[in-house]
Amino acid sequence: AEDALRQAQKMEAVGQLTGGIAHDFNNLLTVIIGNVETVGRRLDSHDDPRVRRALDNAAKGAARAAALTQRLLAFSRRQPLDPKPVEVGRLLMGMSDLLTRAINESIAVHVPASGDLPHIEVDPHQLENAILNLAVNARDAMTEGGSLTIQASSDSSKREIVITVTDTGCGMSAETMEKVFDPFFTTKEVGKGTGLGLSMVHGFVMQSGGRIAIDSELGKGTTITMAFPSLSITPDVQDKDVAGFVDHNG
Ligand code: ADP
Repeated sequence: AEDALRQAQKMEAVGQLTGGIAHDFNNLLTVIIGNVETVGRRLDSHDDPRVRRALDNAAKGAARAAALTQRLLAFSRRQPLDPKPVEVGRLLMGMSDLLTRAINESIAVHVPASGDLPHIEVDPHQLENAILNLAVNARDAMTEGGSLTIQASSDSSKREIVITVTDTGCGMSAETMEKVFDPFFTTKEVGKGTGLGLSMVHGFVMQSGGRIAIDSELGKGTTITMAFPSLSITPDVQDKDVAGFVDHNG
């Protein structure tokens, strides 16, 4: 509990700092993007194509930086949780298209094909975000291809729903494993990783009354396990009112 509190305080401080920087940075980016666009409009068709290309590169770089600051802002805002009864099997099924799109073709994605598990009480959007974060990490760990398996099961003795995300990727060293939940810890190159993914996932799981564990072996792969207390009673509501599928087109 002490650790969780310390982690929460750390996240709070990081959130404030990040929000401030991201906000100012976003304003500066608006200036850069606006000026790049102005120059682009003034270019004539007979101007040096290298200038056009250089300008395109500048615009693309600025757009990537803007996407990154958006993520940082979202992180610092950390929307309050909106917990609902969720059936994880169905939530995962609803995510399978999104997951396949987020992961390259060289990786086989296995997601459970049906769901009839006891419900858990979590914010479905944030659970999806957490799973997506883990899937993207798995993808980044499997540059040579591999397989990503997401499973959900009920552990009735512990009254938990257990979600595992397993990859056959590079795995983590003991040093990395110790630091993965620290905000801004990343082994990825600049622009590729923010080091916020797992600290956000950790924060979400803790706030939801769950637990998270990592099992990893260098060169073999990684399994991240999240467990949430299951509701003993299936909520008596119409199917459509039970979160278990979030519409990604809406
Ligand atoms: P980021 O992905 O932006 O680096 P994360 O907090 O999600 O931030 O992850 C922190 C670090 O943990 C990663 O840089 C990587 O070294 C390690 N990591 C996370 N997930 C995996 C995985 N599935 N396999 C191997 N290493 C991982």
